[in-house]
Amino acid sequence: MNMRQVPFFNYPAVFSQREQEYLQAAEGVLRRGAYIMQKDLFDFEAALAHYVGSRQAIGLADGTMAIALGLLTAGLRRGDEVILPSHTFVATAAAVHHAGGIPVLCDCGNDHLIEPDSVKRLLTKKTRAIVPVQLNGRTANMDPILQIANEHGLFIVEDSCQALGAKFKGRQAGTFGKTGAFSFYPSKTLGCFGDGGALVTDDDSIAEKVRLLRDHGRSSTGDITCFGFNARLDNLQAAILNVKLKHYQQEIERRREIARLYHERLFGMDDLVLPPGPDDDPAHFDIYQNYEVEAGRREALREFLDRSGVKTIIQWGGKPVHQFPALGFHVDLPQTDRLFKRCFLLPMNTSLTDDEVDYVCTQIRKFYSV
Ligand SMILES: *Cc1c(COP(=O)(O)O)cnc(C)c1O
Repeated sequence: MNMRQVPFFNYPAVFSQREQEYLQAAEGVLRRGAYIMQKDLFDFEAALAHYVGSRQAIGLADGTMAIALGLLTAGLRRGDEVILPSHTFVATAAAVHHAGGIPVLCDCGNDHLIEPDSVKRLLTKKTRAIVPVQLNGRTANMDPILQIANEHGLFIVEDSCQALGAKFKGRQAGTFGKTGAFSFYPSKTLGCFGDGGALVTDDDSIAEKVRLLRDHGRSSTGDITCFGFNARLDNLQAAILNVKLKHYQQEIERRREIARLYHERLFGMDDLVLPPGPDDDPAHFDIYQNYEVEAGRREALREFLDRSGVKTIIQWGGKPVHQFPALGFHVDLPQTDRLFKRCFLLPMNTSLTDDEVDYVCTQIRKFYSV
């Protein structure tokens, strides 16, 4: 039997899409022996800042560091409480912890994103910051979040690791707070061939501190100004990212096209809740890092798809942050708990063909019709 296979993500296929360009960029770096803090990095930072529309972009080792350094340089003090959604990668909470803060987990709304009323319920005298997570390539409704922050004198550090290029009311994800964090983990929309991240900010003094902290506290003259980290984005990855960023808008358009196809083929089924379609709401421009659906009889559906060759996953290994007992959270987050009995991700990446998307939809319809 020649069964069709639709992998969840196909790394080799992503490489071969622009193989020659990647090899050329990598060879350039290797021949120059330009590995750390070199021209490709500075070029990438300028291009990224321009793309996001922020004054400053600083390449970092990964997205987690970008969140942590954002919190540290925006003024977090030891013991401050930071509110973030539980429906996120554990990295968001870990970044708060390592920056000296206390992560406080809130619930999510129907859009799977940070829920403003839940944030309000968790405010205390110790609350100092909010970390909205712009999940799945969609920016949260930032109006109520900004309002809460303003009313209570809190600062915002955005986890926009999944949302480079996403917009809310015309404003880019990553530009709503003091700092924004991006991740270039290989399966991210702008993925490099290893780990990578960046922080964006309009605040020059924050940018200066981040530049010191990422490189052992060293200034341009070699003077040590503080205890820093080794949190640099290496130049080889930056060279790859320069290639990728050039084609990025086109990649987003392809993802939006795939979302449109899913929407057309799957809309209106009782047992399936889809993300908003790409043209549903003019306030949002979504980039579809993921296509996260809610499904009745989820486990049976996922098994059926698996047997049909369609690979799916549940984010974070199946659990939001508060459900990992080792982390010691004891909170009641009913909407997140409910969502995690139903949510999973359909394949969403630029190596998918229309035909494959069609096949996935046909299998889902087949499952629910019996
Ligand atoms: C990927 C991701 C991160 C962390 O990124 P790394 O580059 O792997 O450190 C943080 N938050 C969210 C929501 C992510 O998806």
